[in-house]
Formats: sequence, C-alpha cells, structure tokens
Amino acid sequence: MSGGIGSFASAVRIAQRYSTDEMVLLFADTLAEDPDLHRFLGEAVQYIGVPLTRVCDGRDPFQVFDDVRYIGNSRLAPCSKWLKQIPCRRWLEQHCDPANTVLYVGFDAVEWRREPGVVKGWAPWRVEFPMTEEPCLTKQDMLDECRAVHGIEPPLLYELGYSHNNCGGVCVRAGKKQWLRTLELFPERFAYAERREAELREKLGNYSILVEQRKGMKYPLPLSELRRRAEADSRPYTDRSTARRR
Ligand code: SF4
Repeated sequence: MSGGIGSFASAVRIAQRYSTDEMVLLFADTLAEDPDLHRFLGEAVQYIGVPLTRVCDGRDPFQVFDDVRYIGNSRLAPCSKWLKQIPCRRWLEQHCDPANTVLYVGFDAVEWRREPGVVKGWAPWRVEFPMTEEPCLTKQDMLDECRAVHGIEPPLLYELGYSHNNCGGVCVRAGKKQWLRTLELFPERFAYAERREAELREKLGNYSILVEQRKGMKYPLPLSELRRRAEADSRPYTDRSTARRR
C-alpha cells in the first residue's frame, strides 16, 4: 500500500474479490512523502476497512545515499532497497508464511515488463498483479474511479502532473522534466535535494542524480546546474525538458 493509485485499486479489487479478513495493507514510509499521501492513505484504509501496517527504516533517501556512499539515480536506487524492500521483507519474514501468503503489487497493464523482476525479487512469496487482469484500467481510469466510485480524492501529486505519488516529487529515478516540475511547484523540496546532493558530491566526487547526454557521452547534471539553467530560461517549465538538450 504505497500511496500510489495502483496499490489502492489493487487493494479494493482484492477486498471485493475475497474479503478483508486476512488482508494486510503494508506501507513502507520513506520519510520523504508528500503530506497528501498520508491524507490519502488514511482515507483509503478507512474505506477498505483494514488498518495500515507501517514499516519505516528511519532514514530518508539522502541519508541512505550518505550511508552507502552512492547517489541514487534512475539506474540504481539504493533508497528503494533500504527504505522499502528490506523493511517490507523483514516484516513478511516475521509475520507471513510464504506457503499461504500472496503479495499483491499495483502495477497496471503497461508495467508488465517489470513483473518478472518483482516476482523473482520477492521469492519465496507468491506475487500477483491484480490491475493487469481484466478489466484492465489505465492509471487515469483508476484515478477517476477513486474519486467517482469510491468517493476519495486521489493523491495531489497526480493532479499536479506527476506520474507517481512517491517521495514527494523528488524521486531520484525521475527525469529532468519531473525535477523541473518540482522546482516550480515545490521549490523547498528541490532546494533540500539540491543541498543534499551537493553535500554528497563533496564527499563522493562528480556524480549526480541526473545525467545528460552530449555527443553520445553521458555527463553528470547536478540539481544546482539544472536550477541555474531553469532560472535563466523564461519559458514555462513544461517546455523546458527540450531546452536542456541544447
Ligand atoms: S520513490 Fe524514488 S527516491 Fe523514493 S525510495 Fe523509491 S526510488 Fe528512492
């Protein structure tokens, strides 16, 4: 139960298909989530009728990067491993028998390529993907259903144009376009990420969350540089992703 619309829709589908008697809604808190994610989760679990089970490592993504001496990025994100996978697996090992437990993951039909890795990663638990089954719903369908059918206002980040409701719009797996969106909509979150990235670069060298490609070569693109370019650019932020390729 990540706070994403897919996991909510999956939980509703499974609750309707079976029951909520043996259902657990497991949430791994990265301490970096948008406040509205917690509002949504509260309303969602009340609607489903199952209390939230929260696990938390106690660090945020940048604290993890500092500890593992690696800045997370779209290719490798140790924050996901340490803040989500390990706490959830630890909880499963303590509370669930793989022989009679099914994990439900809220991928939608277009995310089918990610399924084998998830199935392999969670072994020996069995994993199913309810939202890839008929009726297949798009993310927009799920958001519309959330509001119209279940009477719950979807998480704010979707409304603001983010494709995922995770880590408050500062996910290190996101691309430049999303970071520019965050710079515009949540400048204090961007500033925090920029400062933490700069501190890590001091310690670890010329690495960064984002990279850019020029003449077939990849170069680090620090958030400070992305901000500097954005501030020098008078166009609306939604047009700027192409500008970065100049
Ligand atoms: S959502 Fe992004 S930043 Fe947050 S833990 Fe996952 S990979 Fe890391």
